[in-house]
Amino acid sequence: MAGRPVLMLFVDGLGLGPADPDANPAARAATRWFRVSAGGRAGPGQAVAATDATLGVDGLPQSATGQTALLTGLNAPAAVGRHVNGWCTPSLARLLHGRSVFARAAAAGKRATFANAYTPAYFQGAVRFKSVTTTAMLSAGLRLRDLDDLRRGEAVYQDFTNRSLAERGFALPPVEAEEAGRRLARLAGTHDFVLYEFFQTDKAGHERAMDRAVGWLEGLDRLVTAALEALRGWDGVVLLASDHGNVEDLTTSAHTRNLVPTMVWGEGAGTLAGRVRAITDVAPLILDLLGLAPALAFGPAGRYNSG
Ligand SMILES: [Zn+2]
Repeated sequence: MAGRPVLMLFVDGLGLGPADPDANPAARAATRWFRVSAGGRAGPGQAVAATDATLGVDGLPQSATGQTALLTGLNAPAAVGRHVNGWCTPSLARLLHGRSVFARAAAAGKRATFANAYTPAYFQGAVRFKSVTTTAMLSAGLRLRDLDDLRRGEAVYQDFTNRSLAERGFALPPVEAEEAGRRLARLAGTHDFVLYEFFQTDKAGHERAMDRAVGWLEGLDRLVTAALEALRGWDGVVLLASDHGNVEDLTTSAHTRNLVPTMVWGEGAGTLAGRVRAITDVAPLILDLLGLAPALAFGPAGRYNSG
């Protein structure tokens, strides 16, 4: 079970929206990879799966259940009875424990890491609420990256530029999108599974901030391009996934029930993307690429049949 390494970019709140530049920043942004979010063509070597994020549950899909679904393959909103916003809940933590791609990779002796850097407040216990990814990492016994990692170029901040850190008084140099992409590529070269998480798209969607949304999509585009260039010749797979729609329709400040793009780059990208119909298909794809079998069978409503 040699497997292939995976670099996963999680982009919060990015759906497939209308080809309307008044509503959809992806229709305005000058990008190679995000035109697909506004009905455009995929870029060279990019395969895109239009992916269901609603998972048969009424209401607007939300981040905590969506991210749990992405990291475990479980229908988290069905399992807990609703779409859960924001922070990880005890029920979601139970779903993540032993079942997230981090836990599965770590248990199999694979090198898995979360590329994002955390501020000292996390390590001082000053942050009471934890995200799904933080919970999954801690639950898998994996180390969170800190600002020293970021200084050494071995992490990326959530806004990838360090701008929001500088605004909060942390003395860290600004990072170009290309440099952030190269850092992710370096981590991907030394790990089996790397996740990077970006949520400024969701924030811009809630604030209906067109110019900012366009800027983030163009920055992310440069990040992806630089990562792919740095990974030329690598035998792994780059995935970009989202938990629900939002920024692709700025006529509303809420999330949307739109399909979301799951983007795949690497050998066999088209075939791999063809296996993704819903956000619950992403974790099984990652496990398969890593050479790990999906160990547990799922019953109706996303509940485990046993265990
Ligand atoms: Zn949101």
